Amino acid sequence: MQHYREHIGADDFRTFPRQLDGKARSRHHAEYAGWHRSACWNGRRFDRFPEYIVRAQSLDDVAHSIDFARAHGLSVSVRGSGHSYAGCFLRDAGLLLDLSALDRIEIDAEAGTASVQPGVGARRLSAALAPHGLAFPTGHGGEVGLSGFLLGGGLGINFRAWGDISAFSVRAVDLIDADGACCAPAPNNTRSCSGPRAAAGRGCFSPRSASTCNAGRCRPASPRARIAANWRASAS
Ligand SMILES: Cc1cc2nc3c(=O)[nH]c(=O)nc-3n(C[C@H](O)[C@H](O)[C@H](O)COP(=O)(O)OP(=O)(O)OC[C@H]3O[C@@H](n4cnc5c(N)ncnc54)[C@H](O)[C@@H]3O)c2cc1C
Repeated sequence: MQHYREHIGADDFRTFPRQLDGKARSRHHAEYAGWHRSACWNGRRFDRFPEYIVRAQSLDDVAHSIDFARAHGLSVSVRGSGHSYAGCFLRDAGLLLDLSALDRIEIDAEAGTASVQPGVGARRLSAALAPHGLAFPTGHGGEVGLSGFLLGGGLGINFRAWGDISAFSVRAVDLIDADGACCAPAPNNTRSCSGPRAAAGRGCFSPRSASTCNAGRCRPASPRARIAANWRASAS
């Protein structure tokens, strides 16, 4: 930790948050403890403390954060919706890039696709698709983000009926790499799963955060998906 403080002067960190649409907090900030406590979905505490936490509000924030981290030799970890039981997005030192506020959904009903940002949760996506008679095999927890869910393959609603892990329904993934460059893997709609793997590669470094984070091949909603959607609505 000392190592990073030596390299990042107070001025550096004062300038950095001003470039952001979102917010950033260092370990010395009064709000840091609350941000750290709420990072895991169920409030579970972990004794791993990033030096900085950034709550990104835009893709520019992601790029600025990576630039800042690169300039100061910080490692970067990414938080989608924080539903990892092990809190594995929390790392000592480094910069935690929280993407949960990036939650735009764009639906092309005719093509049967949806472009979603990493913070989109299962309930919101299902609710947005339902009026079009479409559904995506999201996870069973309504708040679970598509981001980490798809990186892990995703055992979604209707998994057995549709016969695939959810990642097989991903067509394309936009990545921002360690140089801050945006790279979109070639459209992929095969079972090779190279899109999601690419996202999970390089030690999960590349944040999947561009505006079309992934485009799921949506399917006509089956009765079971409708039942699940209704159940979610009544449970919330
Ligand atoms: C209540 C509950 C219900 C669940 N139901 C299901 C289910 O039905 N089916 C199922 O398959 N799983 C289920 N899960 C597991 C869930 O899919 C995983 O915990 C998943 O990782 C959560 O996604 P997240 O966006 O919250 O990831 P996070 O917890 O934020 O992160 C998990 C890991 O993925 C990395 N990561 C996340 N987003 C990105 C990104 N954009 N770019 C790069 N790296 C990233 C993080 O760095 C971290 O290593 C459930 C979990 C909970 C708590």
